[in-house]
Amino acid sequence: MAFWADNPLNRTQTLLFHPTLEEMVGENHPVRLFDELLRQQDWSQWELQYCRFRGQPPIHPRIIVGAILYGMTLRLTSSRQLEDACNNRLDFIWLVHGHHIDHSTFAKFIIKHKKGLESLFAGISSLARQMGYIELKEIVTDGTRIQANSSPHKTASKEEIKKWLACLEQQISESLAQMAQNDEQEDRRYGSSGSPSQLPLPFHGLIKRKELMQKAKQAVVEVEKRRAQKGESSPDKIAKVPVSDPDARVLPNKEAGFSPNYTPVISTDGKHGFIVDADVTASTAEAPVQSQAVDRIEEIHGTRPEHMIGDGLYNDLENVQALEAKGVTLLIPVKPTGATEEDVAYRSDPTEPVSSELVEKLPLSPNGYFTRNAFIFNLELDCFFCPMGKCLDFKCITSHKKSDDSIRETRVYKALSSDCGSCPLKGQCIPAKQKNRRVERMQGSEALDRTAERMKQTENQERFRRRGVIGETPFAHIKGNLGIRRFRHRGR
Ligand code: SF4
Repeated sequence: MAFWADNPLNRTQTLLFHPTLEEMVGENHPVRLFDELLRQQDWSQWELQYCRFRGQPPIHPRIIVGAILYGMTLRLTSSRQLEDACNNRLDFIWLVHGHHIDHSTFAKFIIKHKKGLESLFAGISSLARQMGYIELKEIVTDGTRIQANSSPHKTASKEEIKKWLACLEQQISESLAQMAQNDEQEDRRYGSSGSPSQLPLPFHGLIKRKELMQKAKQAVVEVEKRRAQKGESSPDKIAKVPVSDPDARVLPNKEAGFSPNYTPVISTDGKHGFIVDADVTASTAEAPVQSQAVDRIEEIHGTRPEHMIGDGLYNDLENVQALEAKGVTLLIPVKPTGATEEDVAYRSDPTEPVSSELVEKLPLSPNGYFTRNAFIFNLELDCFFCPMGKCLDFKCITSHKKSDDSIRETRVYKALSSDCGSCPLKGQCIPAKQKNRRVERMQGSEALDRTAERMKQTENQERFRRRGVIGETPFAHIKGNLGIRRFRHRGR
């Protein structure tokens, strides 16, 4: 008797009853879920984009979308990989009903139906809600950094771009001169009424490169402008942008160092970890995306989430105010204005001075003067109490322009010169040239104080504790399991 098991299928055996595709794919195979989900979608708008009277009958868009989405979950993210899977893998053959879809069909389909593919997200999301997978009680917003499709070694400053542009313009004018010369020769050969001569091929490339350089030049001007508004301009800090993808920005990598990057920001529902909103920014500022996400979620589901949760990056006054105005409870780590119960400067009667043994422990700035946390803010009286228990009254509002051209207003509070002049803590509180202490507070920061107050509640602390698991798991999956660490396409 042979030791090895017999092969159940003989490769050359002709079968009387050939197994069906249906029998070859297991009942619980995940590919069936994709098929089922996509069958529930409305395809009428997609179908309208096909001409019914010309050419070969087209493959239904649901089938191609199925292959693209299913392929994504299996790390098949190029059109050629999808073509190969549709020809050779049983699950794909089942999904696409045996169609042979070539890579160019996939590539053209993605370009043609970009908007449709985006709207599919909304369709699947609302289906998931109907099925009870999305609750919209707790939404965690979080971002990560993913490399742009641009080399870290190909970034350029305004001066470099200017030189390249000058060089390109020269090449273009040489090409134009060459083209005119060719035209003349062809006119002589074919007569002036012959077919128009074609642009020389290199000319096309030069024009495209010139457009890209102009876009990069514009981008670098914007970066310089923003830095100037923030007061961060310096001669040894030259602004550079990626030239192959001028929409991207040189941002810190998650691992270390800097390179051309984008910041994808996703909002995830707390119940089952469904992603309910996704966006991509070309900066490290994630906060503005959170209130936009609330609007998009409402547009899809007809209702706003109850709680939006985020890390310290979402601690931005505009974001806090925007979510408060929308009636959404925001849970983020935030410190209230001035000293709280946890701070050394806190005492139940703020008009009393800080005890002498605690004065040493009051928080100091790098310059060696008391920080704002050494002062207690009183919202009702609209004043700060200093460590000596003296009152710093509201004096005026100052305003300055932010990087996005919006105006930020700050409320200024000042102590009396007579109080500070005779104060024993003067040396730790104000520089020698100043007569009295000044403390600032952003206009409208009551919203931050309310958020800080809310974060003290046990149930909110419990919700916030789940933030890491809910918000960061999708990125761990996208980067670790799907291996997506770099965008395939250029442009935001
Ligand atoms: S210097 Fe003025 S503000 Fe500072 S602790 Fe003394 S009295 Fe208060």
